[in-house]
Parts: sequence; C-alpha cells; structure tokens
Amino acid sequence: MIIDLRSDTVTRPDNGMLQAMHDAEVGDDVFGDDPTVIDLELAAAEMFGKGAALFLPSGTQSNLAALLTHCNRGDEYIVGQEAHTYLFEGGGGACLGGIQPQPLNQEPDGTLDLNKVLSLIKPDDYHYARTRLLCLENTTWGKVIPESYLKEAKSLAEERSLGLHLDGARIFNAAVEEDVPVSKIASYFDSVSTCLSKGLGAPVGSVLLGDVEFIAQARRWRKMLGGGMRQSGILAAAGLYALKNNVNRLIEDHANAHKLANSLGSIDGIDAEPAYTNMVFVSVQEEKRQRLIEHLNKNNVLVTGFIGSRLRLVTHKDVNQDAIDQVISYFADYFSP
Ligand SMILES: *Cc1c(COP(=O)(O)O)cnc(C)c1O
Repeated sequence: MIIDLRSDTVTRPDNGMLQAMHDAEVGDDVFGDDPTVIDLELAAAEMFGKGAALFLPSGTQSNLAALLTHCNRGDEYIVGQEAHTYLFEGGGGACLGGIQPQPLNQEPDGTLDLNKVLSLIKPDDYHYARTRLLCLENTTWGKVIPESYLKEAKSLAEERSLGLHLDGARIFNAAVEEDVPVSKIASYFDSVSTCLSKGLGAPVGSVLLGDVEFIAQARRWRKMLGGGMRQSGILAAAGLYALKNNVNRLIEDHANAHKLANSLGSIDGIDAEPAYTNMVFVSVQEEKRQRLIEHLNKNNVLVTGFIGSRLRLVTHKDVNQDAIDQVISYFADYFSP
C-alpha cells in the first residue's frame, strides 16, 4: 500500500462517491440543464451564504474567472508573494486578463500586513494601475487566518473601495478547525473560490461563490476559458457527495497531522513545526535530505522534495492512523543511531 503525503489532491473517490457519480442525473451544463450541476451550485451557494455559485473544472480556473470578473485590463490586484493565485497559476491574471499583480510577502501567519496593503494601494493618477482587488488565501501553509483579521481586511476593502476575494481552496479545513460554518468565513468576502478536489476527496472540481451578478459574469468568463462542460453532473455528483460526507471528517486529518508533527518532532535530527490543519513541515540537516526521501520511497511513502530545508507532509482521507504510525516508524528507523 502506498502512503501518499505529497498533497491532499491525491485522494481517490471512494465507493459511496463512485456510486453517486454512477447514479447522477445529467443534462448539458452549457445549455444550463444539468440537474446535478444545478443542485451542486444551489447547495454550495446555500452553504456559503452567497447569492450564487459556479462549478468549474479547477481552482486555477476559478481564481482566474474571479480575477477577470473583479478587474479590467490595466487594473491591479494585491496578493501574497507566495499565494497560489500569484505564484502557482501561471500568471493567468496578467497573461490573459491584463491584470497587474502587486505581490507582497505574507506574514508568518499567512496574512498580509494591512498597513503594507494600504501603502500599496495606488493613488487615482494616470501614472498608476487602478488598484481594484485584494486577494487573500485561507488556509495558507495550513494556517487558519484569524477572524479578527478578516474583519479588518473587510473594513479596509470597504473604505478603499476594493473588491475582496478569497482563495479558499482549503476553506473547509479552516472552518472545521475553528468549528465555524464556512458561511462565517465567506461572509467577509465578495467572492470565494473553493476546491472539491483537495481534502474533500472529489476527483475534479472547484466552486466559485459570489452574488448573482458576479457569478453571471464569471459564467461568461468560464465559457471563454474553456470551462463550459457538458454532462458534468457526473463530476458535480462527486462534489455534492463530498460536501455532504467529507467535510466534518477533515478533523481526522488534522488530528493525524498533529500526531505526525508531535512524533516526528521528538525524533533526534528532525525539527517539526507545530501542525496546523492538515499540513506538517519538517526540517532536517542537508546531508540527510536526499537519502531520507529515498528511504521513504523505498517504504512506499511518497513525499514531494525539500524546498530549502523544509519538507511538507499533507494528511488526507486516504491516509489513516495506521499509515501515520507507519510513517513515524520509517522516520524513526532512518534517524536511529
Ligand atoms: C490547489 C490550490 C488551488 C487550485 O488548484 P487546482 O489544482 O487548479 O485545482 C488554488 N489555491 C490553493 C491555495 C491551492 O492549494
């Protein structure tokens, strides 16, 4: 059995989900008559407390459709230097939308310093791009953005007439960890993108949420970006199943991450950061890194490479407690004198 800690994107649909996909009633979503897609969009809008929702094939396309809806050519959005939207989405906003990013380093807790954000908002002067949007991410590096911060970000955005978008790929991890409904977090934002294909365990899909007018506009962009799908009820069924069955269980992934971080941290030679939600970051001496990866792979444990001194381990639905215990023992073997 392979234990895959590379990401929570690797989860496979389980039998219940496959059955739901098999049984899905479908239509043609480009004609707007796929009943299962409609059900998913209604359920998501209700869950997030937003006027409407849009089902898209990926989180990248969902964030891009949001950028294109909030901003015009020559506009600017403020975003974290290591935020997914800025760093890992191919520069889509700039390339396809003529939207200039204004990145800044995130604080260690994953937030953007709001004083720095203020200082980066451009004056209304034709030398500058028009600052239109502030984009946050929750969770970032597994960390949950505190609600007090979300309040401050919302009032800043209101005062300065900026749109506020959340890349909430893992918003459900944040909500479950804080024990709040996801609508609470979403209430601070004009638009939210979330992934069904991460910890929730669906094979494909993201949902973008906003008010009715925003989503109508985003729907036009989705078509242009090639995201208009046909019998996509088969995929939406997996998403609906995930929203019903796989949200509350995220707490198990968080418990597994805690256990992993605590146990690895007690091994001589490993520095483990405290685990937040479903992510664990460990550091080891440079000489040990390559052979550690080989040792784990040889024992059927998959990990991504070190980035600098840090290795990220992600827990999810397809890694149970026994698997976590095994991983701990492989690390312990490797570091035992
Ligand atoms: C995974 C992810 C996305 C979207 O990714 P896709 O692979 O395009 O679905 C966006 N933001 C964050 C923070 C992510 O982790």
